[in-house]
Amino acid sequence: MPAGYAVHVEHSRGRRVPEIPHPYRNDFQRDRDRVIHARAFRRLEDKTQVFTRRYSDHFRNRLTHTIEVAQITRTVAAALDLNVDLAEALALVHDLGHPPFGHAGEKALDAAMRSHGLFFDHNLHALRIVEDFEQRYAAFRGLNLTFEVREGIIKHSRDYDAGTHPELAEYLLDQRPPLEAQLIDLTDEIGYNTADLDDGYEAHLLTLDQIRAGVPVFERFFREVEQAYPKVSPKLQFNEALKGVFNRLAVDLITNTQARVQQSGIRTLSDVRAHQDRIAAFSPEVEAERRQIKDFLYQNLYYSPSLAEEKDDAERIVTDLFAFWMQNPSALPQQYQEKADQESLPRVVCDYIAGMTDHFIIEQYEKHCGSAR
Ligand code: MG
Repeated sequence: MPAGYAVHVEHSRGRRVPEIPHPYRNDFQRDRDRVIHARAFRRLEDKTQVFTRRYSDHFRNRLTHTIEVAQITRTVAAALDLNVDLAEALALVHDLGHPPFGHAGEKALDAAMRSHGLFFDHNLHALRIVEDFEQRYAAFRGLNLTFEVREGIIKHSRDYDAGTHPELAEYLLDQRPPLEAQLIDLTDEIGYNTADLDDGYEAHLLTLDQIRAGVPVFERFFREVEQAYPKVSPKLQFNEALKGVFNRLAVDLITNTQARVQQSGIRTLSDVRAHQDRIAAFSPEVEAERRQIKDFLYQNLYYSPSLAEEKDDAERIVTDLFAFWMQNPSALPQQYQEKADQESLPRVVCDYIAGMTDHFIIEQYEKHCGSAR
């Protein structure tokens, strides 16, 4: 039984189209399963997280990253007596709206839209996917998810202003999201900060010495590991130290959020919603360590010269294809041409590109624009 401040499935605000209850799964379990069975979820397998497949088949892609975030989220949500089914559904859906080629692809798509006075936002795109683009059910468009899952898609990582986004008014923009949604931004951080150190080290773009010097919290764990396991390989010592960092972040998120719930006198979900800021948080000490890891990754990995060429390719592919379909809308698939009757052409082209996998967009580029590399 979740705590009083958790979301209780029997108090859900429900679905747009009412459905007969399932005999074995509650509504949040069904939503979690609907996300897993969505086409957009399967496409995450071929969307870049940080490293493309050119590096290695055993690095994270957006699907395996998502599964890792779901794992962390289940543990944290359960320890906080939150609604684990809802938290898991939100973790599984959190990256559904990402375009191909990771951050570079998103930046290029947003820039292309801005030249038409519009913009691209992956959370809003994820909402369009689950509300409209996924067509699996005879009785409704989209996945007909519960209010709480849709709200979490929008509000897990940032606050949207009701003035700028009147279309989101139903999502209680003046209130904080439930703790289940607040967690996702932080479990996402735990997931990718540790995973990117791991993959960056495996890819030989980050050296052990560099990480030890640049990430003090890693260095502390590494020294302990060296004492405990002096004879094992540096890679295993690295793994053990990274595990220490991972665990420190997750445990701190649990204990500090617990403490904040108590200090703020939070008892009910309404208390969480009405509180002036988000309750889920790392302690100041661990927050500073998280920041150090992130800064280190920006300085040494995300903007490293080794990844620059691929990023340039990604930006060029997205930018050129966007321009191509703007000039040649008759080259779009029939269903997208039809959508252009109801929506602006840039939005339709953006939707088409955002849904693509890395593989598919490269294929399209080679078909319409020439050699991708
Ligand atoms: Mg993520």
